[in-house]
Amino acid sequence: MIKTNAYAALSSTAALAPFDISRREPGPDEVQIEILFCGVCHSDLHTARNEWRNTVYPCVPGHEIVGRIVAVGSAVRAFRVGELAGVGCMVDSCGHCASCAEGEEQYCENGFTGTYNGGPGVENTFGGYSQAIVVKESFVLHIHHPEAQLAAVAPLLCAGITTYSPLRHWGAGPGKQVGIVGLGGLGHMGVKIAHAMGAHVVLFTTSPGKVADGKRLGADEVVLSTDRAQCAAQAGRLEFILDTVAAPHQLDTYLTMLKRDGTLTLVGAPAEPHPASAVFNLILKRRSLAGSLIGGIRETQEMLDFCADKGIVSDIETIPMQAINGAYERMLRGDVKYRFVIDMASLR
Ligand code: NAP
Ligand code: ZN
Repeated sequence: MIKTNAYAALSSTAALAPFDISRREPGPDEVQIEILFCGVCHSDLHTARNEWRNTVYPCVPGHEIVGRIVAVGSAVRAFRVGELAGVGCMVDSCGHCASCAEGEEQYCENGFTGTYNGGPGVENTFGGYSQAIVVKESFVLHIHHPEAQLAAVAPLLCAGITTYSPLRHWGAGPGKQVGIVGLGGLGHMGVKIAHAMGAHVVLFTTSPGKVADGKRLGADEVVLSTDRAQCAAQAGRLEFILDTVAAPHQLDTYLTMLKRDGTLTLVGAPAEPHPASAVFNLILKRRSLAGSLIGGIRETQEMLDFCADKGIVSDIETIPMQAINGAYERMLRGDVKYRFVIDMASLR
């Protein structure tokens, strides 16, 4: 067993605090990673506070993991000791259902094993707010960005793939008008990636203070979603909208901005449902309301390589592990530019 310092929530109301965990020795097909940085996703907060009502305690969050491989099992072929590597939201899946066979492990029909909070047959798993992790090599990603950018690569492992996958699936690219709702961790990656794919990007934010950043990050237009006139001017203009907002809100605002056959895809996962949308906003223009979950391992590698090629990383604020509870409060206020990343050297 590998003794590992970590931070955990012991209940939905407890602050995160130091907690010792043990990692298994790597098996033949597993790698051991020294975690150097871990991004802070809003899902970590939802889970630590049991907002989705499925948390297993103790809860060690963190699924935007980057680090260095320090040991490999005897059958590992794709990774070597000393290389950089990443781990996202999944550490295992059944491997034989139709979704796994197509490389869409996030939709595994038997349920995937989360990097934290467990999965089928595994009561709990501990995530990246820790010094080390042991993972099956088939769920480990290669990192081709320069090492100096490593901290800013971490958020690609969730925020990057969660926006890249639906943007690809719904065909974002040249000639397409794409909306991104919310400029947080996911939203700012959505703006950068949609821009890099060649789409015309319209960002919707509730924060007047983020308008200039939205343009700097790659938005062609920035709309204050609290301004009725600015929203009305977007009616019927967009082919695809990706909604990253972490709280319930009126979806009709965005459905009416879609062209005929357009799609509004939800990736934000608030604890409570959105108010129901008007049926006629869907049927009159054959619009679709959809959802999307992270992305498969093959597509996650594709996204990392796309971002390395285009020079895309996350805009980050690095924090020590000890600052996590204050960081959660700032995330709730939308006060993150645009992703917190924990420097795991602070756990030594
Ligand atoms: P985040 O950094 O907190 O960003 C959320 C953004 O939503 C805020 O920055 C804010 O942007 C906007 N917002 C507008 N109204 C809000 C309100 N009342 N409360 C909170 N935010 C509001 O969060 P994130 O890490 O990007 O995650 C966003 C959501 O996606 C979370 O629910 C998370 O659990 C979910 N998620 C889903 C997947 C998936 O696979 N589907 C994967 C990862 C995360 P403005 O200031 O610009 O308005
Ligand atoms: Zn996440």
